[in-house]
Amino acid sequence: MAIHGKMRPLSRYLKDYKHAQSHCSHCGKVLDRMALVFRGQIINKEAIARMDQLIDEPVWLKLQTELTALCRFCSDIYCNTHPTYFDIMAFKQYLFQQTEMNPSTIREYVVRLRRLDDILTANNFCASEREVASWHDLLRDALPDTGTNNYRIALRKYDQFLDWKAA
Ligand SMILES: [Zn+2]
Repeated sequence: MAIHGKMRPLSRYLKDYKHAQSHCSHCGKVLDRMALVFRGQIINKEAIARMDQLIDEPVWLKLQTELTALCRFCSDIYCNTHPTYFDIMAFKQYLFQQTEMNPSTIREYVVRLRRLDDILTANNFCASEREVASWHDLLRDALPDTGTNNYRIALRKYDQFLDWKAA
């Protein structure tokens, strides 16, 4: 008789997994409030509690590869941001991994770019115009004067990211 691994409820595995995570897997920040992301979706406590199907260790190990523990900031960008013009997720990773910027500055850049993306979307800015129009023209045409400088600074950073990506 083969000895199979003990079956446990998935929720039990998930809770153990959650408790074992100490750092955000995207930005490396120590996790105080954590979001558990499974297949691109945040699963909250209530959802975890309902996951009572019994699984064994091999199944769990497979599922685990699709799980990520993220801080609130990263999970918000990962799950709730669907930018049209900017690759905000990759930009954020770039700032964390390739620059010495502190997290609050990174956050500020990301928020600005996100807002800019919203503004462009609201204005139906044609994505192909991006090829011909410089950010400068784009800003002049699409943005109100207030805060334009902040956007400009964020865009300059984004251009550095694009250069880095292309290199
Ligand atoms: Zn994070």
